[in-house]
Amino acid sequence: MEQYCNSLTSYNRLITREVKVGNLIIGGGHPIRVQTMTTTDTLATEKTVDQVILCIKAGAELVRITAPSKTEAENLAAIKKALRAQGYETPLVADIHFTPNAAEIAATIVEKVRVNPGNYVDKKKFEQIEYTDQEYLEEIERIRERFTPLVTICKEYGTAMRIGTNHGSLSDRIMSRYGDTAIGMVESAMEFLRIARAEDYHNIMLSMKSSNPQVMVQAYRLLINHMTNEFGECYPLHLGVTEAGDGEDGRIKSAIGIGTLLEDGIGDTIRVSLTEDPEFEIPVCKDLVKRYTSSYNSNVPPIDKLQFDPFNYKRRETFQVGNIGSKNVPVVVSDFSKNNNITTADLVDIGYSYNEKTDKWNIADAAADYLYCKQEPNFSLPGTLKVILDYNTWLHANDKEKCFPIFSDKQYLEASIQKSNQLNFVMVDCYDKAEEDTTREHLFNTIKSDQTAVICLSSQNKNAVQSIRRMFQELIANQIQNPVVLICDSNHETNEESLIHYAVESGALLIDGMCDGVCFGYHYSSPAIIPPYKLLNSVAFGILQAARTRISKTEYISCPSCGRTLFDLQETTAKIRAVTNHLKGVKIAIMGCIVNGPGEMADADFGYVGSGVDKITLYKGKEVVKRNINSEIAVEELINLLKENGAWVEVPSAIE
Ligand code: SF4
Repeated sequence: MEQYCNSLTSYNRLITREVKVGNLIIGGGHPIRVQTMTTTDTLATEKTVDQVILCIKAGAELVRITAPSKTEAENLAAIKKALRAQGYETPLVADIHFTPNAAEIAATIVEKVRVNPGNYVDKKKFEQIEYTDQEYLEEIERIRERFTPLVTICKEYGTAMRIGTNHGSLSDRIMSRYGDTAIGMVESAMEFLRIARAEDYHNIMLSMKSSNPQVMVQAYRLLINHMTNEFGECYPLHLGVTEAGDGEDGRIKSAIGIGTLLEDGIGDTIRVSLTEDPEFEIPVCKDLVKRYTSSYNSNVPPIDKLQFDPFNYKRRETFQVGNIGSKNVPVVVSDFSKNNNITTADLVDIGYSYNEKTDKWNIADAAADYLYCKQEPNFSLPGTLKVILDYNTWLHANDKEKCFPIFSDKQYLEASIQKSNQLNFVMVDCYDKAEEDTTREHLFNTIKSDQTAVICLSSQNKNAVQSIRRMFQELIANQIQNPVVLICDSNHETNEESLIHYAVESGALLIDGMCDGVCFGYHYSSPAIIPPYKLLNSVAFGILQAARTRISKTEYISCPSCGRTLFDLQETTAKIRAVTNHLKGVKIAIMGCIVNGPGEMADADFGYVGSGVDKITLYKGKEVVKRNINSEIAVEELINLLKENGAWVEVPSAIE
């Protein structure tokens, strides 16, 4: 096994223990199960039953329901009975926070319970506590005493359990010793796992969720590494990015985190947490999982030595060519090569609006940096936008300060070619079967000493992520420090599938510090269809933001809501988004309840948290600043809070 997966160059499932959840088997190489969670009040039996049925009809193979106290835990019996009476046998999962009593009741009713080691028995009050080793051991002993009865009940009833760690809700004890880190998340789960194993209870799966896909991926990798080293085996893994938000951003964040792990054969069940109705999570899960069939493999050479640290982020070292590489944020290249005649109006979709009266361009925060097109545009371009042309077209370009050539690998090696003295793009298809190793060696030796060359990596292979990542290994091992732009094309039928495709294929490389730019292309069955340029541009910037490599907009961390939520989270999120979506780089959390919200809002700068019926509590970081304010004025108060803290700017006025 590699440090955290079976193979880094071929699709190979990590084989975990088999766990039985009712009539469903998870792990052990069984299909990746998809699941979701209800948002209704658990005491509203009929509504919850109806929602569970909607989720099952959408394809959920497990459905989770919150059980915040004994009363809700007891009501799971009525919900289960009603579902079984209607012929629905789908296993149910009780979501537990804080309350061992509720867990012990739920474990006698439903097929699985989820406990969060950050707040099950342990405390979360944001206190810094110094423990001696002895005191630390005593705390673990206290947890053992309180957790073991639940393990005993689960063993007796054949109930499965998920030990579900969340980055944002690590206990004060873990935080004091390990800090807010991936290793802290792993240790938090391992403590509970050791207790369960000591009781010879193995019907367990684990999760390591975070709203930051980078942290989430590192934590799962570390967990596998630690389980394998300590136990010689792995328990099934439930994958998810928590508080991912809604719409395009929520899907992108989830696809990057979950997809990166699935690419390496990691993950036995997945949940995509969206601030939307739960049944809408299932198609996203399905789009993610369906890529991994037995034919998801091609001939990628094995790796002798991993050239990057999979547990810590570090960007690949590159030199700078123009505004690409080194410390520059990754660039976005917009592929307009299917458009024969570009006009100023076309550029609106990629962040540039032209005002004829003033003869000025208005440039958005998410404006593309390069335009790849067939012909040199016949109008004066905005200052920040440059053009990439195929070599033979570029030879005849008028403005060679603005236009740069792109070569095929063979063209680039021809002695007679004329190059730009500033910037040259070179296409390389990773492990193209037709290409001899010697040709590639010659190519890289030439590129390496060319301070104007940017490599454009693509792969026709099915497992393109592994193929391109393998090429990065080769570049690093051979000290080739030219910047790399990733070319990723989609031929999927729907925009939703393409979004998942781009997010997985580029996100998986970006969160390991590779890529100095991205270019997304579309290959439709009919050439008459115009690519959705606006969507491609916003997806590119969304992916760079979710991978925390280029911040171009407000970051929202919103929980999916559940039976604890006391207000309409979807509507409120939309309202807050509408008035704050111009605040580039500000992180705003919108959380359904005061019990878990503050803990789980991760590294948000500001928090809007439900604290009672029609009551909202506002946070600055982890600190309460306005308690229990009326929900009617809460959005206004949030704006005031942003203003008081210098995080507010007025909405840029429309172009005159
Ligand atoms: S933060 Fe949101 S999803 Fe989590 S328990 Fe509270 S309301 Fe439910």
